[in-house]
Amino acid sequence: HQTNADIRRLDIEHFIHPYTDFATFKSEGSQIAARASGVHVIDENGQRYVDGIAGLWCVNLGHGRREIVDAIAEQAATMQYYNPFGHTTNIPATLLAAELAELLPGSLNHVFYTTGGSTANDLAIRMVHYYFNRRGMPRKKKIISRVDAYHGSTYVTARLTGIHATKYDFDEVAEGLVHHVSAANLYRRPAGMDEAAFCNHLVSEFEDRILQLGPDNVAAFIAEPIMGAGGVMVAPAGYHARMHAICRRYGMLYIADEVVTAFGRLGEWSASETLYGYTPDIMIVAKGLTSGYVPLGAAIFSSEIYDVISTPQRKGAVLSLGFTYTGHAVACAAGRATIAMMKRDDVNQHVRKIGPLFQGLLSSLRSFEVVGDVRGSHLMAGIELVKDRHQRLPFGAEVGAAHRVFLACRRRGLIVRPIGNVVVLSPPLVFSQEDCRETCRIMSEAVEEVTPALLA
Ligand code: PLP
Repeated sequence: HQTNADIRRLDIEHFIHPYTDFATFKSEGSQIAARASGVHVIDENGQRYVDGIAGLWCVNLGHGRREIVDAIAEQAATMQYYNPFGHTTNIPATLLAAELAELLPGSLNHVFYTTGGSTANDLAIRMVHYYFNRRGMPRKKKIISRVDAYHGSTYVTARLTGIHATKYDFDEVAEGLVHHVSAANLYRRPAGMDEAAFCNHLVSEFEDRILQLGPDNVAAFIAEPIMGAGGVMVAPAGYHARMHAICRRYGMLYIADEVVTAFGRLGEWSASETLYGYTPDIMIVAKGLTSGYVPLGAAIFSSEIYDVISTPQRKGAVLSLGFTYTGHAVACAAGRATIAMMKRDDVNQHVRKIGPLFQGLLSSLRSFEVVGDVRGSHLMAGIELVKDRHQRLPFGAEVGAAHRVFLACRRRGLIVRPIGNVVVLSPPLVFSQEDCRETCRIMSEAVEEVTPALLA
Protein backbone atom coordinates (compact mmCIF):
# COMPACT_ATOMS: atom_id res chain seq x y z
CA HIS A 1 0.00 0.00 0.00
CA GLN A 2 1.38 3.39 -1.04
CA THR A 3 1.12 6.38 1.28
CA ASN A 4 0.45 9.90 0.00
CA ALA A 5 4.12 10.66 0.57
CA ASP A 6 5.06 7.67 -1.64
CA ILE A 7 2.78 8.91 -4.42
CA ARG A 8 4.23 12.39 -4.22
CA ARG A 9 7.79 11.06 -4.38
CA LEU A 10 7.10 8.67 -7.27
CA ASP A 11 5.27 11.45 -9.09
CA ILE A 12 8.28 13.77 -8.87
CA GLU A 13 10.60 10.97 -9.92
CA HIS A 14 8.62 9.61 -12.86
CA PHE A 15 5.64 11.60 -14.11
CA ILE A 16 6.45 14.44 -16.53
CA HIS A 17 3.35 16.63 -16.24
CA PRO A 18 2.18 18.83 -19.12
CA TYR A 19 2.77 22.59 -18.88
CA THR A 20 4.81 22.40 -15.69
CA ASP A 21 7.06 24.83 -13.86
CA PHE A 22 9.64 22.28 -12.75
CA ALA A 23 11.24 24.41 -10.05
CA THR A 24 7.98 24.51 -8.10
CA PHE A 25 7.07 20.94 -9.02
CA LYS A 26 10.35 19.52 -7.76
CA SER A 27 10.26 21.45 -4.50
CA GLU A 28 6.55 21.16 -3.69
CA GLY A 29 5.35 18.15 -5.66
CA SER A 30 1.77 17.68 -6.81
CA GLN A 31 -1.50 17.99 -5.03
CA ILE A 32 -3.15 14.60 -5.45
CA ALA A 33 -6.65 14.54 -6.88
CA ALA A 34 -7.83 11.35 -5.21
CA ARG A 35 -11.56 11.19 -5.89
CA ALA A 36 -14.28 13.25 -7.47
CA SER A 37 -18.03 13.40 -7.25
CA GLY A 38 -20.55 15.72 -8.87
CA VAL A 39 -19.04 19.22 -9.05
CA HIS A 40 -16.38 18.41 -6.44
CA VAL A 41 -12.88 17.02 -6.50
CA ILE A 42 -11.37 15.61 -3.30
CA ASP A 43 -7.67 15.64 -2.52
CA GLU A 44 -5.49 13.09 -0.76
CA ASN A 45 -6.36 14.51 2.66
CA GLY A 46 -10.08 14.34 2.07
CA GLN A 47 -10.31 18.10 1.44
CA ARG A 48 -13.19 18.90 -0.94
CA TYR A 49 -13.01 21.57 -3.64
CA VAL A 50 -15.55 22.96 -6.05
CA ASP A 51 -14.19 22.04 -9.49
CA GLY A 52 -14.47 25.47 -11.09
CA ILE A 53 -12.77 24.30 -14.28
CA ALA A 54 -14.54 20.96 -14.94
CA GLY A 55 -11.24 19.09 -14.91
CA LEU A 56 -9.89 21.07 -17.87
CA TRP A 57 -12.97 22.44 -19.65
CA CYS A 58 -14.18 18.88 -20.10
CA VAL A 59 -16.06 17.20 -17.24
CA ASN A 60 -19.23 18.86 -18.42
CA LEU A 61 -21.72 16.54 -16.73
CA GLY A 62 -19.78 16.41 -13.47
CA HIS A 63 -17.81 13.59 -11.91
CA GLY A 64 -18.91 10.04 -11.13
CA ARG A 65 -22.04 9.95 -13.30
CA ARG A 66 -23.29 6.38 -13.07
CA GLU A 67 -24.86 6.34 -16.53
CA ILE A 68 -21.56 7.10 -18.27
CA VAL A 69 -19.60 4.75 -16.02
CA ASP A 70 -22.07 1.93 -16.76
CA ALA A 71 -21.96 2.57 -20.52
CA ILE A 72 -18.16 2.37 -20.41
CA ALA A 73 -18.18 -0.83 -18.37
CA GLU A 74 -20.81 -2.47 -20.53
CA GLN A 75 -19.01 -1.71 -23.77
CA ALA A 76 -15.67 -2.80 -22.30
CA ALA A 77 -17.24 -6.14 -21.39
CA THR A 78 -19.01 -6.57 -24.76
CA MET A 79 -16.07 -5.60 -26.96
CA GLN A 80 -13.58 -3.02 -25.83
CA TYR A 81 -11.77 -2.58 -29.14
CA TYR A 82 -11.44 -3.82 -32.65
CA ASN A 83 -9.42 -2.64 -35.66
CA PRO A 84 -11.27 0.23 -37.39
CA PHE A 85 -9.12 0.36 -40.52
CA GLY A 86 -10.77 -0.15 -43.89
CA HIS A 87 -14.03 -2.02 -43.68
CA THR A 88 -14.63 -3.03 -40.06
CA THR A 89 -16.72 -0.92 -37.73
CA ASN A 90 -18.10 -1.19 -34.20
CA ILE A 91 -21.62 -0.31 -33.19
CA PRO A 92 -20.99 2.65 -30.81
CA ALA A 93 -18.63 4.32 -33.32
CA THR A 94 -21.15 4.14 -36.15
CA LEU A 95 -24.09 5.23 -34.01
CA LEU A 96 -22.18 8.11 -32.41
CA ALA A 97 -21.16 9.36 -35.88
CA ALA A 98 -24.80 9.35 -36.96
CA GLU A 99 -25.81 11.20 -33.77
CA LEU A 100 -23.12 13.84 -34.32
CA ALA A 101 -24.28 14.34 -37.90
CA GLU A 102 -27.78 14.93 -36.56
CA LEU A 103 -26.70 17.38 -33.84
CA LEU A 104 -24.16 19.45 -35.77
CA PRO A 105 -25.17 22.09 -38.31
CA GLY A 106 -25.17 22.21 -42.09
CA SER A 107 -23.73 19.25 -43.91
CA LEU A 108 -21.22 18.44 -41.15
CA ASN A 109 -22.12 14.80 -41.51
CA HIS A 110 -18.82 12.94 -41.83
CA VAL A 111 -16.87 12.09 -38.70
CA PHE A 112 -13.19 11.18 -38.37
CA TYR A 113 -12.44 10.08 -34.81
CA THR A 114 -9.19 10.83 -33.03
CA THR A 115 -7.88 10.58 -29.48
CA GLY A 116 -8.31 14.23 -28.49
CA GLY A 117 -8.38 17.82 -29.70
CA SER A 118 -4.75 18.05 -30.83
CA THR A 119 -4.94 14.93 -32.94
CA ALA A 120 -8.24 16.10 -34.45
CA ASN A 121 -6.79 19.48 -35.46
CA ASP A 122 -3.65 17.83 -36.76
CA LEU A 123 -5.68 15.38 -38.82
CA ALA A 124 -7.89 18.19 -40.13
CA ILE A 125 -4.85 20.02 -41.53
CA ARG A 126 -3.66 16.87 -43.30
CA MET A 127 -7.15 16.38 -44.70
CA VAL A 128 -7.33 19.99 -45.92
CA HIS A 129 -4.08 19.45 -47.82
CA TYR A 130 -5.36 16.16 -49.22
CA TYR A 131 -8.61 17.83 -50.28
CA PHE A 132 -6.89 20.62 -52.23
CA ASN A 133 -4.43 18.15 -53.77
CA ARG A 134 -7.39 16.11 -54.97
CA ARG A 135 -8.95 19.25 -56.42
CA GLY A 136 -5.77 19.92 -58.40
CA MET A 137 -4.64 22.82 -56.17
CA PRO A 138 -1.48 21.46 -54.55
CA ARG A 139 -0.15 24.93 -53.75
CA LYS A 140 -3.18 25.81 -51.61
CA LYS A 141 -1.61 24.80 -48.28
CA LYS A 142 -1.16 27.71 -45.91
CA ILE A 143 -3.28 27.98 -42.79
CA ILE A 144 -4.16 31.25 -41.10
CA SER A 145 -4.55 31.09 -37.33
CA ARG A 146 -4.57 33.76 -34.63
CA VAL A 147 -2.27 35.11 -31.96
CA ASP A 148 -3.32 33.64 -28.58
CA ALA A 149 -5.19 30.74 -30.20
CA TYR A 150 -4.83 27.30 -28.62
CA HIS A 151 -5.12 24.35 -30.98
CA GLY A 152 -3.02 21.66 -29.34
CA SER A 153 0.38 20.23 -28.64
CA THR A 154 1.42 18.03 -31.58
CA TYR A 155 4.10 19.57 -33.77
CA VAL A 156 1.64 21.02 -36.27
CA THR A 157 -1.02 22.07 -33.76
CA ALA A 158 1.61 23.73 -31.56
CA ARG A 159 2.43 25.71 -34.67
CA LEU A 160 -1.23 26.63 -35.14
CA THR A 161 -1.28 27.71 -31.51
CA GLY A 162 -0.54 31.40 -31.13
CA ILE A 163 0.21 31.58 -27.42
CA HIS A 164 3.72 32.94 -27.15
CA ALA A 165 4.76 30.95 -24.09
CA THR A 166 4.22 27.64 -25.92
CA LYS A 167 7.03 28.54 -28.34
CA TYR A 168 9.99 28.90 -25.94
CA ASP A 169 12.94 26.74 -26.93
CA PHE A 170 10.95 24.61 -29.35
CA ASP A 171 11.67 24.42 -33.04
CA GLU A 172 8.97 25.28 -35.53
CA VAL A 173 7.96 22.69 -38.06
CA ALA A 174 6.92 23.22 -41.70
CA GLU A 175 8.26 26.70 -42.35
CA GLY A 176 5.66 28.94 -43.96
CA LEU A 177 2.72 26.66 -43.23
CA VAL A 178 1.00 28.75 -40.54
CA HIS A 179 0.45 32.51 -40.39
CA HIS A 180 -1.07 34.33 -37.46
CA VAL A 181 -3.39 37.32 -37.55
CA SER A 182 -4.42 39.34 -34.49
CA ALA A 183 -6.50 37.87 -31.71
CA ALA A 184 -10.06 39.13 -31.45
CA ASN A 185 -9.11 40.64 -28.11
CA LEU A 186 -11.69 43.35 -27.46
CA TYR A 187 -10.20 44.38 -24.14
CA ARG A 188 -6.81 45.07 -25.69
CA ARG A 189 -8.03 46.58 -28.95
CA PRO A 190 -6.13 49.64 -30.22
CA ALA A 191 -7.01 52.82 -28.35
CA GLY A 192 -9.84 54.86 -29.78
CA MET A 193 -11.53 52.00 -31.65
CA ASP A 194 -15.05 50.96 -30.74
CA GLU A 195 -16.22 47.36 -31.13
CA ALA A 196 -17.46 47.81 -34.71
CA ALA A 197 -14.30 49.59 -35.82
CA PHE A 198 -12.19 46.88 -34.20
CA CYS A 199 -14.16 44.23 -36.09
CA ASN A 200 -13.56 46.06 -39.39
CA HIS A 201 -9.89 46.28 -38.50
CA LEU A 202 -9.60 42.52 -37.87
CA VAL A 203 -11.50 41.59 -41.02
CA SER A 204 -9.33 43.88 -43.20
CA GLU A 205 -6.17 42.58 -41.59
CA PHE A 206 -7.32 39.03 -42.48
CA GLU A 207 -8.14 39.89 -46.07
CA ASP A 208 -4.88 41.82 -46.52
CA ARG A 209 -2.93 38.84 -45.22
CA ILE A 210 -4.66 36.48 -47.66
CA LEU A 211 -3.88 38.83 -50.55
CA GLN A 212 -0.31 39.18 -49.40
CA LEU A 213 0.19 35.39 -49.18
CA GLY A 214 -1.75 34.85 -52.41
CA PRO A 215 -5.24 33.32 -52.34
CA ASP A 216 -3.96 30.37 -54.37
CA ASN A 217 -1.63 29.53 -51.48
CA VAL A 218 -4.03 29.88 -48.56
CA ALA A 219 -6.12 26.81 -47.73
CA ALA A 220 -7.93 27.51 -44.48
CA PHE A 221 -8.63 29.67 -41.46
CA ILE A 222 -8.82 28.05 -38.03
CA ALA A 223 -10.48 29.69 -35.02
CA GLU A 224 -12.14 28.95 -31.70
CA PRO A 225 -15.59 30.58 -31.43
CA ILE A 226 -14.46 31.96 -28.07
CA MET A 227 -10.74 31.71 -27.42
CA GLY A 228 -10.21 29.55 -24.38
CA ALA A 229 -6.65 29.02 -23.20
CA GLY A 230 -5.65 32.36 -24.71
CA GLY A 231 -7.68 33.98 -21.92
CA VAL A 232 -11.40 33.61 -22.77
CA MET A 233 -11.80 36.17 -25.52
CA VAL A 234 -15.22 36.84 -26.95
CA ALA A 235 -14.91 38.23 -30.49
CA PRO A 236 -16.64 41.48 -31.54
CA ALA A 237 -20.19 41.12 -32.82
CA GLY A 238 -20.32 39.79 -36.40
CA TYR A 239 -16.64 38.83 -36.47
CA HIS A 240 -16.92 35.10 -37.22
CA ALA A 241 -19.58 35.44 -39.92
CA ARG A 242 -17.48 38.08 -41.66
CA MET A 243 -14.28 36.02 -41.42
CA HIS A 244 -16.27 33.11 -42.86
CA ALA A 245 -17.48 35.28 -45.76
CA ILE A 246 -13.87 36.22 -46.53
CA CYS A 247 -12.96 32.51 -46.55
CA ARG A 248 -15.74 31.92 -49.08
CA ARG A 249 -14.52 34.80 -51.25
CA TYR A 250 -11.05 33.25 -51.56
CA GLY A 251 -12.05 29.59 -51.79
CA MET A 252 -10.72 28.84 -48.31
CA LEU A 253 -12.08 26.42 -45.74
CA TYR A 254 -13.18 27.55 -42.27
CA ILE A 255 -12.16 25.21 -39.45
CA ALA A 256 -14.08 25.86 -36.22
CA ASP A 257 -12.15 24.51 -33.23
CA GLU A 258 -15.05 23.79 -30.89
CA VAL A 259 -13.05 21.59 -28.51
CA VAL A 260 -14.13 23.78 -25.58
CA THR A 261 -17.32 25.40 -26.88
CA ALA A 262 -19.26 22.37 -28.20
CA PHE A 263 -21.37 20.08 -26.04
CA GLY A 264 -23.07 22.64 -23.92
CA ARG A 265 -20.49 25.05 -22.55
CA LEU A 266 -22.33 27.84 -24.37
CA GLY A 267 -25.78 26.26 -24.02
CA GLU A 268 -25.73 24.69 -27.50
CA TRP A 269 -24.53 21.43 -29.05
CA SER A 270 -22.09 23.65 -30.96
CA ALA A 271 -21.68 27.41 -31.06
CA SER A 272 -20.67 28.35 -34.60
CA GLU A 273 -23.97 28.44 -36.40
CA THR A 274 -26.45 28.94 -33.58
CA LEU A 275 -24.60 31.70 -31.74
CA TYR A 276 -22.35 33.24 -34.36
CA GLY A 277 -24.17 32.74 -37.64
CA TYR A 278 -21.70 30.83 -39.80
CA THR A 279 -21.40 27.18 -40.75
CA PRO A 280 -17.85 25.89 -40.75
CA ASP A 281 -16.54 23.42 -43.33
CA ILE A 282 -14.79 21.43 -40.62
CA MET A 283 -15.62 21.29 -36.92
CA ILE A 284 -13.26 19.98 -34.27
CA VAL A 285 -14.66 18.52 -31.06
CA ALA A 286 -13.17 16.64 -28.06
CA LYS A 287 -13.34 17.22 -24.27
CA GLY A 288 -17.11 17.55 -23.59
CA LEU A 289 -17.85 14.91 -26.23
CA THR A 290 -17.30 12.26 -23.54
CA SER A 291 -17.56 14.66 -20.62
CA GLY A 292 -13.88 13.86 -20.12
CA TYR A 293 -14.59 10.28 -19.01
CA VAL A 294 -12.30 8.76 -21.67
CA PRO A 295 -10.18 10.39 -24.38
CA LEU A 296 -11.96 11.04 -27.66
CA GLY A 297 -11.83 13.73 -30.33
CA ALA A 298 -13.28 14.13 -33.79
CA ALA A 299 -12.86 16.19 -36.93
CA ILE A 300 -16.20 16.48 -38.67
CA PHE A 301 -16.26 17.30 -42.37
CA SER A 302 -18.87 18.81 -44.67
CA SER A 303 -20.42 16.74 -47.43
CA GLU A 304 -18.65 18.91 -49.96
CA ILE A 305 -15.25 17.93 -48.51
CA TYR A 306 -16.32 14.32 -48.04
CA ASP A 307 -17.40 14.04 -51.68
CA VAL A 308 -13.95 15.10 -52.83
CA ILE A 309 -11.93 12.94 -50.44
CA SER A 310 -14.13 9.87 -50.96
CA THR A 311 -14.26 9.88 -54.74
CA PRO A 312 -11.76 7.27 -55.95
CA GLN A 313 -9.07 8.82 -58.07
CA ARG A 314 -7.78 5.52 -59.33
CA LYS A 315 -8.67 1.93 -58.61
CA GLY A 316 -7.27 0.69 -55.30
CA ALA A 317 -6.38 4.18 -54.04
CA VAL A 318 -6.56 4.39 -50.25
CA LEU A 319 -7.07 7.37 -47.91
CA SER A 320 -3.93 6.68 -45.90
CA LEU A 321 -4.29 8.31 -42.51
CA GLY A 322 -5.76 7.34 -39.17
CA PHE A 323 -5.09 6.01 -35.70
CA THR A 324 -5.21 2.65 -33.97
CA TYR A 325 -7.81 4.14 -31.65
CA THR A 326 -9.96 5.84 -34.30
CA GLY A 327 -13.52 5.08 -33.25
CA HIS A 328 -12.51 3.31 -30.04
CA ALA A 329 -15.58 1.39 -28.94
CA VAL A 330 -15.41 2.31 -25.24
CA ALA A 331 -14.76 5.99 -25.98
CA CYS A 332 -17.65 6.13 -28.45
CA ALA A 333 -19.95 4.42 -25.94
CA ALA A 334 -19.00 7.16 -23.44
CA GLY A 335 -19.81 9.77 -26.09
CA ARG A 336 -23.23 8.23 -26.73
CA ALA A 337 -23.98 8.11 -23.00
CA THR A 338 -22.93 11.75 -22.65
CA ILE A 339 -25.23 12.86 -25.45
CA ALA A 340 -28.09 10.77 -24.09
CA MET A 341 -27.73 12.38 -20.64
CA MET A 342 -27.49 15.85 -22.12
CA LYS A 343 -30.74 15.26 -23.99
CA ARG A 344 -32.52 13.61 -21.07
CA ASP A 345 -31.68 16.43 -18.65
CA ASP A 346 -31.83 19.20 -21.27
CA VAL A 347 -28.40 20.38 -20.14
CA ASN A 348 -28.20 23.02 -22.89
CA GLN A 349 -31.35 24.65 -21.58
CA HIS A 350 -29.96 24.57 -18.03
CA VAL A 351 -26.79 26.32 -19.24
CA ARG A 352 -28.81 28.94 -21.08
CA LYS A 353 -30.62 29.62 -17.81
CA ILE A 354 -27.70 29.50 -15.39
CA GLY A 355 -25.14 31.17 -17.70
CA PRO A 356 -26.46 34.73 -17.34
CA LEU A 357 -26.65 34.33 -13.55
CA PHE A 358 -23.02 33.14 -13.45
CA GLN A 359 -21.77 35.95 -15.69
CA GLY A 360 -23.85 38.50 -13.77
CA LEU A 361 -22.44 37.43 -10.38
CA LEU A 362 -18.89 37.46 -11.75
CA SER A 363 -19.28 40.96 -13.15
CA SER A 364 -19.42 42.30 -9.58
CA LEU A 365 -15.66 41.54 -9.46
CA ARG A 366 -15.25 44.68 -11.57
CA SER A 367 -15.41 46.67 -8.36
CA PHE A 368 -11.89 45.53 -7.43
CA GLU A 369 -9.11 47.82 -8.51
CA VAL A 370 -6.99 44.96 -9.87
CA VAL A 371 -9.76 43.62 -12.08
CA GLY A 372 -9.47 45.09 -15.55
CA ASP A 373 -11.99 42.94 -17.38
CA VAL A 374 -14.61 40.28 -16.69
CA ARG A 375 -15.69 38.51 -19.83
CA GLY A 376 -17.10 35.33 -21.25
CA SER A 377 -20.36 33.71 -22.14
CA HIS A 378 -22.53 31.14 -20.38
CA LEU A 379 -20.26 28.83 -18.35
CA MET A 380 -16.98 30.10 -19.75
CA ALA A 381 -15.41 33.10 -18.03
CA GLY A 382 -12.13 35.00 -17.75
CA ILE A 383 -11.19 37.65 -15.20
CA GLU A 384 -8.19 39.72 -16.31
CA LEU A 385 -6.07 41.26 -13.57
CA VAL A 386 -4.26 44.54 -14.22
CA LYS A 387 -1.80 46.78 -12.41
CA ASP A 388 -3.57 49.92 -13.58
CA ARG A 389 -7.03 49.68 -14.98
CA HIS A 390 -7.18 53.10 -16.54
CA GLN A 391 -4.17 52.33 -18.69
CA ARG A 392 -4.95 48.59 -18.82
CA LEU A 393 -1.37 47.92 -17.66
CA PRO A 394 -0.67 44.20 -17.23
CA PHE A 395 1.17 42.72 -14.25
CA GLY A 396 4.58 41.33 -15.10
CA ALA A 397 4.80 37.53 -15.28
CA GLU A 398 7.02 37.53 -12.16
CA VAL A 399 4.09 38.82 -10.06
CA GLY A 400 2.07 35.66 -10.76
CA ALA A 401 -1.12 37.66 -10.27
CA ALA A 402 -3.64 35.03 -11.39
CA HIS A 403 -1.66 32.32 -9.63
CA ARG A 404 -2.11 34.17 -6.33
CA VAL A 405 -5.85 34.25 -6.88
CA PHE A 406 -5.73 30.53 -7.68
CA LEU A 407 -3.98 29.83 -4.35
CA ALA A 408 -6.37 32.04 -2.39
CA CYS A 409 -9.34 30.27 -4.02
CA ARG A 410 -7.88 26.85 -3.33
CA ARG A 411 -7.44 27.66 0.35
CA ARG A 412 -11.18 28.43 0.37
CA GLY A 413 -12.18 25.24 -1.45
CA LEU A 414 -12.45 26.33 -5.07
CA ILE A 415 -10.28 25.34 -8.04
CA VAL A 416 -9.84 27.98 -10.75
CA ARG A 417 -7.27 28.11 -13.57
CA PRO A 418 -4.65 30.83 -13.74
CA ILE A 419 -3.41 31.62 -17.25
CA GLY A 420 -0.98 34.55 -17.30
CA ASN A 421 -2.97 37.44 -15.82
CA VAL A 422 -6.33 35.83 -16.44
CA VAL A 423 -8.28 33.68 -13.98
CA VAL A 424 -10.35 31.21 -15.96
CA LEU A 425 -13.56 29.53 -14.87
CA SER A 426 -15.31 26.76 -16.82
CA PRO A 427 -17.36 24.81 -14.29
CA PRO A 428 -19.32 21.62 -14.91
CA LEU A 429 -22.53 22.41 -16.79
CA VAL A 430 -24.56 20.83 -14.01
CA PHE A 431 -23.61 23.72 -11.71
CA SER A 432 -26.59 24.81 -9.60
CA GLN A 433 -27.50 28.39 -8.73
CA GLU A 434 -25.98 27.71 -5.30
CA ASP A 435 -22.71 26.48 -6.91
CA CYS A 436 -22.59 29.69 -8.98
CA ARG A 437 -23.08 31.81 -5.86
CA GLU A 438 -20.47 29.92 -3.83
CA THR A 439 -17.93 30.14 -6.66
CA CYS A 440 -18.41 33.87 -7.13
CA ARG A 441 -18.35 34.52 -3.37
CA ILE A 442 -15.01 32.68 -3.04
CA MET A 443 -13.59 34.44 -6.11
CA SER A 444 -14.54 37.75 -4.60
CA GLU A 445 -12.94 36.94 -1.22
CA ALA A 446 -9.80 35.69 -2.99
CA VAL A 447 -9.41 38.81 -5.13
CA GLU A 448 -10.00 40.98 -2.07
CA GLU A 449 -7.33 39.05 -0.15
CA VAL A 450 -4.63 39.37 -2.82
CA THR A 451 -5.35 42.96 -3.88
CA PRO A 452 -3.15 44.75 -1.28
CA ALA A 453 -0.13 42.55 -2.10
CA LEU A 454 -0.65 42.99 -5.83
CA LEU A 455 -0.80 46.76 -5.55
CA ALA A 456 2.06 47.04 -3.03
N1 PLP B 1 -8.33 23.05 -29.20
C1 PLP B 1 -8.76 23.76 -28.16
C2 PLP B 1 -9.63 24.96 -28.41
C3 PLP B 1 -8.40 23.40 -26.85
O1 PLP B 1 -8.80 24.15 -25.81
C4 PLP B 1 -7.60 22.25 -26.66
C5 PLP B 1 -7.20 21.82 -25.30
O2 PLP B 1 -7.34 22.51 -24.34
C6 PLP B 1 -7.17 21.55 -27.79
C7 PLP B 1 -7.56 21.97 -29.03
C8 PLP B 1 -6.28 20.36 -27.66
O3 PLP B 1 -7.00 19.27 -27.21
P1 PLP B 1 -6.26 18.04 -26.48
O4 PLP B 1 -5.58 18.60 -25.28
O5 PLP B 1 -7.40 17.10 -26.19
O6 PLP B 1 -5.31 17.44 -27.45
